[in-house]
Amino acid sequence: MREAVEQLLLPAECLLCRALLPFRDASRLVCDVCRYRWRPVRPPWCPRCGQPEPLFGRCRVCADWPATFILARSAVWLDAGARAAVHALKYGGLPRIAHDLAAAIAVLDPPGRAGAWLVPIPLGPRRLRHRGYNQSERLARALGRRWHRPVVELLVRSRDTAAQTTLTPEARLANVAGAFELRIGNCGLRIDGGKYESAIRNPKSAIERPLVLVDDVFTTGATLAEAARALERAGARTVLAVTFGRAVVPDFI
Ligand SMILES: [Zn+2]
Ligand SMILES: [Zn+2]
Repeated sequence: MREAVEQLLLPAECLLCRALLPFRDASRLVCDVCRYRWRPVRPPWCPRCGQPEPLFGRCRVCADWPATFILARSAVWLDAGARAAVHALKYGGLPRIAHDLAAAIAVLDPPGRAGAWLVPIPLGPRRLRHRGYNQSERLARALGRRWHRPVVELLVRSRDTAAQTTLTPEARLANVAGAFELRIGNCGLRIDGGKYESAIRNPKSAIERPLVLVDDVFTTGATLAEAARALERAGARTVLAVTFGRAVVPDFI
């Protein structure tokens, strides 16, 4: 409903460059030109965390990840254009842009995703109240529609954490330590048609599938690794992750 109203009220122009959108693109918020400017993250990269850095010995990004967290990939570099899109998703109050971002993520084809369920990174209750929606959940739902995979909100924040953006890498780790736990009870599985609705009254029934964490941005990987740790503690065997953006120069290298 909210999306329909937004569609009526918003002019059909690109959110990033203000160019008019052709009518067939009325459901999108980003024009072709802006989308083609997003630079895909490409190999060579660390086969596990997808960080395109020269590798000498152990990868510093993923060395301390939990064993079940086997793979992370990001769609595009987080430079100016992509950053504006993430900003619109998180702070612009425009959750519909999730469709544009999910289209870029959907190109990634991590092994094992065919049988996987998608798990959004949860927001703390305070931030969720303030924003009115969880951007990762919007991304996961839009991606789920493209991949035809269900979305299950398996995780909750056990506490509100400080915004990661202002923190040093060491502080990021401490900030997210123990931040996630398994949701108790119905985890609000959402898929078009509600096909899997009844299977998920108990989150334990989902935990043994391959799980794909979905988030907007990969900076140091600390948040995703902590979420994977919570899933591993709950019994998960295989955790992957996809994000829309990847920080251009991780500040800890
Ligand atoms: Zn544009
Ligand atoms: Zn790595």
